[in-house]
Amino acid sequence: MQLLKDRIRKDGKIKEGNVLKVDSFLNHQLDMALFSAMGRQLAALFSNAGVTKILTVEASGIGLACMVSQYLGCVPVVFGKKHKTLNRDASVYSTPIFSFTHNTQYEVTIARRFLSEKDKALIVDDFLANGEAVHGLMDILSQAGASLAGIGIAVEKGFQGGGDKLRARGIRVESLAIIDRMDETGIVFRP
Ligand code: 5GP
Repeated sequence: MQLLKDRIRKDGKIKEGNVLKVDSFLNHQLDMALFSAMGRQLAALFSNAGVTKILTVEASGIGLACMVSQYLGCVPVVFGKKHKTLNRDASVYSTPIFSFTHNTQYEVTIARRFLSEKDKALIVDDFLANGEAVHGLMDILSQAGASLAGIGIAVEKGFQGGGDKLRARGIRVESLAIIDRMDETGIVFRP
């Protein structure tokens, strides 16, 4: 998506450890015109996929998930809650997720009553890097017996390989911008 690529080039900042900082428009201050365009585009890509719920993780996936929902007939958005330690609680699905940006492991939980075998979920997130967050959400889907409609991402860091591993398994992954390389010389997007 050209609008997003242009914005990353203009305002994205490359930080140590392969982290792209996009807090002026994507995950701290949110540019709602951009979010609306991203939501419309991802919704169009999955409009025939039979999506009943959108699944994401707090906090930075929620904004995009809500915009996609608006363009997919307002299907419910369910977000995984992050906990430092596992609360043994029979009323929730839970899975460990390793955080790339914080270098730590979280337990992510979703209440069982919000996800069932009748659901077909679209996973949405702001970034896809190694794929840990997506794998965690897929694990929760399989605990619920729900099916996966696909994965919709704003920024995929292609050089970390998470997205391509999922595609190799036949999973539909749609990313609005895929970065194949980023360093002090600039950012190279996948064509
Ligand atoms: P993964 O689980 O695929 O390794 O990483 C995806 C998660 O880590 C996303 O939920 C996102 O919040 C965070 N993340 C990964 N890479 C970056 C990055 O370069 N910049 C920012 N801002 N967040 C990232």
